[in-house]
Amino acid sequence: DDEQAGGEEYLFKVVLIGDSAVGKSNLLSRFATNEFNQNSKATIGVEFQTQAVEIDGKEIKAQIWDTAGQERFRAVTSAYYRGAVGALLVYDISRKTTFDSVERWLMNSPVLLVNWGYDCELPEKAVLRMKPNFMLEIKLMDSHCDTTVARMLVGNKCDLEDIRDVSVEEGKSFAEEHGLFFMETSALDATNVQEAFEVVIREIYKNVS
Ligand code: GDP
Ligand code: MG
Repeated sequence: DDEQAGGEEYLFKVVLIGDSAVGKSNLLSRFATNEFNQNSKATIGVEFQTQAVEIDGKEIKAQIWDTAGQERFRAVTSAYYRGAVGALLVYDISRKTTFDSVERWLMNSPVLLVNWGYDCELPEKAVLRMKPNFMLEIKLMDSHCDTTVARMLVGNKCDLEDIRDVSVEEGKSFAEEHGLFFMETSALDATNVQEAFEVVIREIYKNVS
């Protein structure tokens, strides 16, 4: 019987964020279809995949969005973030520059500041600021809205231990500093991929139930 007790249905939008070639698309394909692609090809158009996960006996559908190669142009639009209640911020442990970018992603992603999904009206204490890249930053000073976005910092490609460029400690302390969950993953050998998505989905479920 597929029906949920009480007729509840859960569909959570989760976005993948991070520099090009850190492994976002492969994390998604590993999670959704257990596939891995050696050859990176830029995603054309916004794409998402829906994957069902069981949390506490409830079936939860996670709609995972993957950037459409827009990461190269720093042009991820607000439509990408709108309605998202979870985010995985991905870097590549073998390329320090992708780790350094995480902070920029964090500051430039409205979803990480505001939960667009829940018609929360802008409170008076909201600070609006036009960033240099023309993305409108909306920072809520005292809103509960921003606490419902579950965020995880993901250090991908942990199979590349021999050419590691970012230590586990660096990842961990950045995550602690910014209130993010943290995990190292490998889309190649499937280490922690399921786990990373599940922690985020579980946290969202906790936030809304
Ligand atoms: P995206 O641009 O962030 O979506 O990155 P892709 O998923 O397209 O991956 C970029 C490249 O990194 C591809 O050649 C992948 O095969 C490779 N890659 C992705 N994840 C891993 C991983 O966990 N380990 C290793 N060694 N390579 C990976
Ligand atoms: Mg991609």
